[in-house]
Amino acid sequence: MIRSLSDLDRATAPRRAREEAEVRALGERIGYGRVMQLAEQEWRRAAVANGTPGAELTVGACAGLLVPCPCPTPDANGHCDWCCGTKHVTERVAKAANTSKLRNLTIGSLSR
Ligand SMILES: [Zn+2]
Repeated sequence: MIRSLSDLDRATAPRRAREEAEVRALGERIGYGRVMQLAEQEWRRAAVANGTPGAELTVGACAGLLVPCPCPTPDANGHCDWCCGTKHVTERVAKAANTSKLRNLTIGSLSR
């Protein structure tokens, strides 16, 4: 019986280990970047089919090109409008996030 998050963590550990092993094997075989591109592509295909285009995650820049996000206004779940919880952004985004005039804007509002 699952009574706590640690019970849930223990109960799902074998499944998570299998999933990680499967992704590791696929990544080693075809390349981790390709796995990420295909995941985005297939998630987009499913989102469009389900009538929720844009719901998919996207593949971002290489980690070496990113800087830590200043995370000025994380929500109750620790998410951030600037980095979506990844804790990394481009230098341009970090600069914008640190500009007080833009501090309260969201990424979505910047593209409008
Ligand atoms: Zn952030």
